[in-house]
Amino acid sequence: MSRQLPALTLSELTTELGSRARAVETLRWLFDQRPVPTELPDTLPGVSHRVWRPFTQSHRLVSPKVTERQQSPDGTTKYALDFGGTNVETVLIPAKSRSTVCISSQAGCTRKCVFCATKELGFIRQLAAEEMIAQYLLARSEAPAAQPASNVVFMGMGEPMDNLDEVLHAIDVLTQSPAPQLRQVAVTVSTSGVLPGLQRFLAESNASLALSLNATTDEVRERVMPQTKTWPIASLLGALRHDVARRGGKRAYFIEYVLFKDLNDTDADADRLVTLLEGIPSRVNLIPYNPYPGTGLDTPSEARVRAFHARLVEKGLLTLIRWPRGREIAAACGQLVLSRDSAGFQPSPA
Ligand code: SAH
Repeated sequence: MSRQLPALTLSELTTELGSRARAVETLRWLFDQRPVPTELPDTLPGVSHRVWRPFTQSHRLVSPKVTERQQSPDGTTKYALDFGGTNVETVLIPAKSRSTVCISSQAGCTRKCVFCATKELGFIRQLAAEEMIAQYLLARSEAPAAQPASNVVFMGMGEPMDNLDEVLHAIDVLTQSPAPQLRQVAVTVSTSGVLPGLQRFLAESNASLALSLNATTDEVRERVMPQTKTWPIASLLGALRHDVARRGGKRAYFIEYVLFKDLNDTDADADRLVTLLEGIPSRVNLIPYNPYPGTGLDTPSEARVRAFHARLVEKGLLTLIRWPRGREIAAACGQLVLSRDSAGFQPSPA
């Protein structure tokens, strides 16, 4: 299928519309029109009818049906979206002065992390770049004016490295000028550690990288992330080290670490994590496990989370605790499949 809006780049649009000025008008309309455009209009100011009409006959605007919009008391909004019968979820997370949009890269997921609710869906299909950008476009249009959607994380459903061509194209569009012109560093791709994709991403993209490490030994990691058998921890961190050497540290690296009670939350784990990350200028995000039934995994106490955090900070690691956002509406990490009724979670244990 040829590219459609919103995944046409400025240069592709320039070719299609015969001038850069018309392409710029089209992008401004697409990203700044409120409410968010859901189809191509008959006329577009700044683009002559003679050019626009044939364009609308050969192209369309990919746009989802919003099947559900849930807002959590903390301001997080979870969207259930329908792309031609395929359901995916997107989360808008407002912070102090900006919002982050959490995008899905696949319907379902190609991976089988034990702790993640998305695995229950299995793999349904790859999402096209059009569908990833359309998720951003919708959330952007609803972000509070004082907290514009300047950040994107590929941390919704799916494994981005298993759909890398489309993810890279989406990043090209999201970071292009004149619109939406996100900064490369403000776009983060999160991976469960698919080594070939990770290596290619590091070679081809300037965006930020998040590695979901989630354990400090291969043995424990294999229990929660079976693909560790194929790509052990040392191979993943080796790829990051190689990138650090090649780029002289010109990229933001995040290490995501979901904390599971009595599995990966001990002082010895904290010390091993410090050693593993030596030479990688990374920031660690500690995510207390968002429980869902049947995994046999538990959330550590708040005191244990804080002690683990303190131990990393004491050893000089930049570390933040990511207390769950949107847990009330099952919009927190790893919960995206769950409906509000089936979720029934309690606030995080003290
Ligand atoms: N496949 C990618 C992106 C989707 S998961 C990846 O693995 O990185 C996004 C983040 O949510 C990952 O860091 C993952 O470890 C975390 N996550 C998944 N399920 C979770 C759960 N139940 N509780 C807390 N974090 C979870």
